[in-house]
Amino acid sequence: MYLRKKIIAANWKMNLTSSEVAPYLETFLLETKHIEGVDVVLIPSFTSIPKASELLEKNPKVRLGAQNFSFHEKGAFTGEVSAGMLRDLFVRYVLVGHSERRELFGETDHIVHQKLLTAHRHEIRPILCVGETLEERKNGKAKQVLEHQLKVALADLSHEDLADTIIAYEPIWAIGTGCTATAAEASEMHHFIREVIKELAHKEISQKIRIQYGGSVTPANARELLKSPDIDGALVGGASLDPRAFAEIVKASQG
Ligand code: PEP
Repeated sequence: MYLRKKIIAANWKMNLTSSEVAPYLETFLLETKHIEGVDVVLIPSFTSIPKASELLEKNPKVRLGAQNFSFHEKGAFTGEVSAGMLRDLFVRYVLVGHSERRELFGETDHIVHQKLLTAHRHEIRPILCVGETLEERKNGKAKQVLEHQLKVALADLSHEDLADTIIAYEPIWAIGTGCTATAAEASEMHHFIREVIKELAHKEISQKIRIQYGGSVTPANARELLKSPDIDGALVGGASLDPRAFAEIVKASQG
């Protein structure tokens, strides 16, 4: 069996200002100072990235991510931020295809695909978010939806880039609702995602790729979810806004 390093990411969404970054990190780093062997990614808003980048410059334990970017390289795209601009601030990860971007900002599978290619070109690791709505799940279409999202998004990626992509399984009905998928429900879907990756590439890549679970992860349910062998980490929204709660989730990844 492949040993995959757990990866825990904090998606702050449109919360916490630049001046709140230092007190947050002070508490979080203190709470997690003895933690080793887990990748931690902080994903603040664009305006908080410079401060986080400055404070984390000499800290190899926490990497920086961004919540969005443009797949265009540069030019007349008012209001957009390019991958090169993120690299310049030492951003190593980027969320792609988060359900809020798909639903509220019209991010299509085609755009998601373009963003994945662009992120890899700039050596920024994409965290590809996929997940079904409650209605799709009730209609028995959850796997079909995931398969489609994965196949369109990951088409044409080299095997190397595929292995270096993080997948976040985020059932939409669990995001921000307090209604978490059970460890068994999440594991079944993670196992299915690995099957799709195997079909797109081969078994070794499907064993190598890391799949996070996201959807109302809290300190109370993290341990149970993270002990499942197919769940390689968590993408945390609401609970990551509290540095102590996020630290507890990171600790839970240690078993
Ligand atoms: C998310 O938005 O990626 C997320 C998982 O949010 P929450 O943890 O609040 O459900």
